[in-house]
Amino acid sequence: MENNTYDVVVIGAGNGGLVAALTLQKKGKKVLLLEKGRVPGGFASSFKRGRFEFDASLHELCEYGTIENKGEVYELLERLGITDKITMIPIQETFSVYTLDTHEEYTMPVGKKAFLAQMEKYVPNSTASMLRFFDLCEETKQALAYLNETKGHPDTKVLMEKFPNFMVVAPYSVQKVLEKIEMPSKAQEILTTYWSYLGSPAENLSFVHYASMIYSYITNAPVIPQHTSHEISLALSEEFTSLGGKLEYLSPVKEILVENETVCGVVIEDNRRFLTNHIIANISPHEVYTKLIAPEKVPDKAKKYLSSQALGARGLCVYLGLNKTMEELGLNHYSYFIYHTLNSNVEYKRMHSLYNGNLVATLQNNREGTSIMCLTSLLFNDAFDQVVTAENYYEIKEKIAENMVASFEQATNVNIHEAIEEIEVATPVTFARYSGHPDGVIYGYLASGYANLLPRVMNEPNEMYIKNLRFCGGFSSRLSGYSSAYLNGEQEALKTFGEMKNETI
Ligand SMILES: Cc1cc2nc3c(=O)[nH]c(=O)nc-3n(C[C@H](O)[C@H](O)[C@H](O)COP(=O)(O)OP(=O)(O)OC[C@H]3O[C@@H](n4cnc5c(N)ncnc54)[C@H](O)[C@@H]3O)c2cc1C
Repeated sequence: MENNTYDVVVIGAGNGGLVAALTLQKKGKKVLLLEKGRVPGGFASSFKRGRFEFDASLHELCEYGTIENKGEVYELLERLGITDKITMIPIQETFSVYTLDTHEEYTMPVGKKAFLAQMEKYVPNSTASMLRFFDLCEETKQALAYLNETKGHPDTKVLMEKFPNFMVVAPYSVQKVLEKIEMPSKAQEILTTYWSYLGSPAENLSFVHYASMIYSYITNAPVIPQHTSHEISLALSEEFTSLGGKLEYLSPVKEILVENETVCGVVIEDNRRFLTNHIIANISPHEVYTKLIAPEKVPDKAKKYLSSQALGARGLCVYLGLNKTMEELGLNHYSYFIYHTLNSNVEYKRMHSLYNGNLVATLQNNREGTSIMCLTSLLFNDAFDQVVTAENYYEIKEKIAENMVASFEQATNVNIHEAIEEIEVATPVTFARYSGHPDGVIYGYLASGYANLLPRVMNEPNEMYIKNLRFCGGFSSRLSGYSSAYLNGEQEALKTFGEMKNETI
């Protein structure tokens, strides 16, 4: 094989790309991983300001678990040989939610029994419907495992026989299912607190998607890496290169070469050309079909696919280095969800305006009597672009930060602004620059209607519009999130590997 020829080229060293590249390298393939930035991980990275190191994105990692009760992500990272190189800290709560307008406050524990008891305390007579909800979550989990096993080609008879309730709830939104099982409305509101993690409100969000995420958080505590998500990214990239994989930083792909509707190579910014029969893109289909492939080589079906996908949430983040510990500040939770009300459908609409006040805060102690806080808010339209100019950009960033800090203080009644030692603000411009994603979206495509988890996964086999061009990561069929991107990276690598085996027969 010539020097510039590879079995597979992976574009982007985000979570999905790193896992895809390492999976194929471990299978003995010659893999080239091309990354436009200078570090691995994409969003899964960190940065330093003064005596603080901030995680750029990760609040909580789900489906990891513990050595005694390994989740899917633990098992994956174990297969990839990196679990002894990373240290995970379990979070002992699911969430705390505070409301600005209705002045409510709820904190939910980890563990089914404890979660149930706490919900009953907040909402008397909620237990029966919560038990029904847990049963549906368990069946959903098993049905999804079966769908995975059968690689999107399930036997419908088996599905009907083994997972009858899953088949009934699968097409519906989380709101419809919770109403149907007669969960009291307050319990529904508390239970759907995590909606903003998936960037879609209860009336649009698929039950299957929401149930799989929250059930994993409740039954198997969420975790965070001791030394930020960069620790995982580094371990994956080092394992890849130590096995002989070629990882080139500062190498943005500017063109994907296509002949006879099949990929045949890539060209990077410095005009070097690499040949391959297989590409896995860890970037958005929007970027690939509108910028990287010559327009006449983009099939109509790919164009139609693009017009059927709406971009998901954009992010506004305020990273704070505080000169006091959590205890000194009087704050004792890891995550604080702050909304005006608990009605996700109303709050989703509110998040179409720039200074909406809704956010998720994560907080942990740091060295030398300090703590680190990250405030993240979502925006679902172009409200930011409508007001921002080159001249007022810094002023707007400051206003966003002031608004988010004030919102946290108002909800919790705790003064944090006097403890701020370092502050950094990230806007859609920041996220666009680092990730290269259209409009700086941070959650891939919007999970709604036919773009929800199940239809996307079921339709995935029909989404290869150019032969041997696959997508992994937050824009792919498993949708966004760390665990989805890691797991999907492996799936796409295994499918690619399977195709290569067929080619050599
Ligand atoms: C503020 C914030 C908070 C979040 N919180 C959580 C959370 O708590 N839990 C959770 O599960 N998820 C969270 N997410 C979402 C999660 O970070 C993403 O879904 C996930 O990291 C996406 O991974 P990915 O594989 O799609 O890669 P990405 O991180 O999107 O990386 C793509 C990579 O491709 C590179 N690239 C782009 N264009 C090119 C090109 N032309 N050539 C070469 N390389 C290119 C980029 O530089 C980047 O490295 C959060 C995201 C943000 C921003």
